[in-house]
Amino acid sequence: MVAVQSVKHDPLECETEHFLMAQRQLDESAREMGLDHELHERLRFPKRSLIVTIPIRLDNGQLKTFTGYRVHHDVSLGPAKGGIRFHPEINLGEVAGLAMLMTWKCALMGLPFGGAKGGIRCEPWLLSPAELERLTRRYTAEIINWIGPDKDIPAPDMYTNEQTMAWIMDTYSINVGYTVPSVVTGKPVVLGGSLGRQEATGRGVAYCAREAVAQAELPTKHPTVAIQGFGNVGAVTAKLLHKSGFKVVAISDVQGGIYNADGLDVPRLSAYISEMGKVKEFSGGKPITNEQLLSTPCDVLIPAALGNQITKDNVSTLNCKIIVEAANGPLTPEADQYLEEHKIMVVPDILANAGGVTVSYFEWVQGLMHLFWTEEEVNQRLEEMMARACKQVFDFSRKNKIRLRMAALHIGISRLAEAKRLRGLYP
Ligand code: NAD
Repeated sequence: MVAVQSVKHDPLECETEHFLMAQRQLDESAREMGLDHELHERLRFPKRSLIVTIPIRLDNGQLKTFTGYRVHHDVSLGPAKGGIRFHPEINLGEVAGLAMLMTWKCALMGLPFGGAKGGIRCEPWLLSPAELERLTRRYTAEIINWIGPDKDIPAPDMYTNEQTMAWIMDTYSINVGYTVPSVVTGKPVVLGGSLGRQEATGRGVAYCAREAVAQAELPTKHPTVAIQGFGNVGAVTAKLLHKSGFKVVAISDVQGGIYNADGLDVPRLSAYISEMGKVKEFSGGKPITNEQLLSTPCDVLIPAALGNQITKDNVSTLNCKIIVEAANGPLTPEADQYLEEHKIMVVPDILANAGGVTVSYFEWVQGLMHLFWTEEEVNQRLEEMMARACKQVFDFSRKNKIRLRMAALHIGISRLAEAKRLRGLYP
């Protein structure tokens, strides 16, 4: 097998640290799996990247311009699929790196989608609802030729939600002249959203945590778990694991966390949060910092907040047996390497948080069929898909004596490489 030659060149626009991290992960997997060098080369860069300028009128009458992105990493298996993020630090490279991860995630789950990601560089917390609406609608108008149920189907991501999706769906529909619910997923149920979508990512994370504990054969009926982040994903994961007998000993949000060695009362905490807001002020545990949460003694640690939370600087303080990556990219490559050397099991993000895109796929299918499933049907189908993917990854890892991340990437990348090989190279 010929290795890909690294030729020195001026950095491309997308070649930021974030993107290079995703690309290095591909390079490492390609090397380990002996991927054909031409197929490897074709997967190393996004298929297309769009940068748009979004002028809007602020509530105070002034005009302000924002920058937006949409990247399609690969569309060999079907329309592109991926979230839209509103964040001040977003750039083309971060979006391209996340789009690449979406490609592997969709392929791993056997979904007929390619990988995409998008976003607007802004501070969404400083904008009024009316400004956010104008920003979303103008962004949609700027990318309108790229999206559509057969082309690219956006979804929510950080600081976007079902309201954002409703505005995108409406703007798209008004422009084409008829209603097209399937242009987005993660939309409100009344507009064709799927039952079970809101809980889907946490449900998949909880499934993976139970599976990892079973595979690791931990000698306990009530494994302990610490969860960083109590948003959509963290809160649902905590609720479901608590229900299935795990002892949730620590939880945090951006302002800090709480710890209780006997287990937190998760339903009471959830009720408290929906009324009062801050995890660290809940009376059922001892306040801790986010750094302390990560080093909490526990069987399973679930980072469910941001990327790059566990780094070479704090990885040696971890005190867990298993990590389930609910967030995208919560470990830096150096931390990942350390955990491999110390035999800590890591269930990778492309498997652990794939429940969200899987139910997005169900939403798209239901929309195209104009036939809607009950929540039980959605949850049951999700469980079947998570069980199948988990089994494939754990079996592959065991058989080939490679870590779970490499196994998951190997399965996803191989499917894509096979699709590209069969489709051939045009012209
Ligand atoms: P969210 O915005 O609902 O919640 C994020 C939580 O993290 C909040 O509780 C916030 O207070 C907390 N947080 C933020 N910064 C923190 C910090 N520095 N330390 C500790 N906690 C912090 O987001 P979400 O939808 O729950 O997503 C969480 C992660 O999961 C993100 O990385 C996202 O990309 C990933 N993810 C989400 C989905 C989904 O369907 N929502 C799907 C796949 C992946």
